[in-house]
Amino acid sequence: MKKKVLCLLMAAACAASLSACGGGASETTAAAAPDATTAEGNTAAKAEDTTAAEEEKADAAEGKQLIMATNAEFPPYEYHDSSMTGPDGSDIVGIDAEIAGAIAENLGMELVIEDIAFDSIIPELQSGKADIGAAGMTVTEDRLVNVDFSDTYATAVQVIIVTEGSEIAGPDDLAEKIIGVQQGTTGDIYASDDFGDENVDRYPKGVDAVQALLQGKVDAVIIDNEPAKVFVSENEGLKLLDAAYAEEEYAIAVKKGNTELLDQINGALAELKESGALDEIVAKYISAE
Ligand code: GLN
Repeated sequence: MKKKVLCLLMAAACAASLSACGGGASETTAAAAPDATTAEGNTAAKAEDTTAAEEEKADAAEGKQLIMATNAEFPPYEYHDSSMTGPDGSDIVGIDAEIAGAIAENLGMELVIEDIAFDSIIPELQSGKADIGAAGMTVTEDRLVNVDFSDTYATAVQVIIVTEGSEIAGPDDLAEKIIGVQQGTTGDIYASDDFGDENVDRYPKGVDAVQALLQGKVDAVIIDNEPAKVFVSENEGLKLLDAAYAEEEYAIAVKKGNTELLDQINGALAELKESGALDEIVAKYISAE
């Protein structure tokens, strides 16, 4: 169907643009330039010590923190679970949280997770408040205008949830129906494009859209397949339609032009893929069945 083709085209465009930016525009991180040209021999060693200490301090001041912006309402990629401890010591766990934790470890950094609205993630990256956006975030052409994306680490499908007994059997039946989505997500964007703004009800969290479906306020919910499976399994009276609505790919977003961090992330991701660690993380949260 139309959307699928569009998405695949977008993925191709992303791949093209990723390799384009991988070529490396100039990097802007200013390395502290230690000036060790102390004339007095006596104090040279001391000066060196001081420089090393200063460098260490500078590193620490740089924080060595990797600040991840996410919206922890998206199981199994990121969600709160008070029975678990996430990679930053909070109760935010999930595939993205663990991948980011592994990347931070690989880079010798400390992961800090910020739980914010999904549609605030890109502005946080742009303003420099967060370093990475890891939120089951789909690579799209529009987003590529505002942020850069890492290599992809997962494929996903936008699916349709309806109530059991619904007459909606596939995307074509959605015309003139009210569709619930999470605000600012690709489900929102595609549904608005295909069926018109007036037929789309936007909610802050995916689970709110699912509640609206249960209450009969909307006729269907369009959302990513993995959270969809979780929400359907947690609520009686819902079902997932077989027909996929759109295919997409997840990647980690960084501030536009931050090629240094992007390269580091891609390097770490490649290692995680090669060592099997990435598969292990996914398997921990998604059973093969
Ligand atoms: N993959 C969807 C998007 O990028 C939804 C992500 C989410 O809700 N966390 O828009």
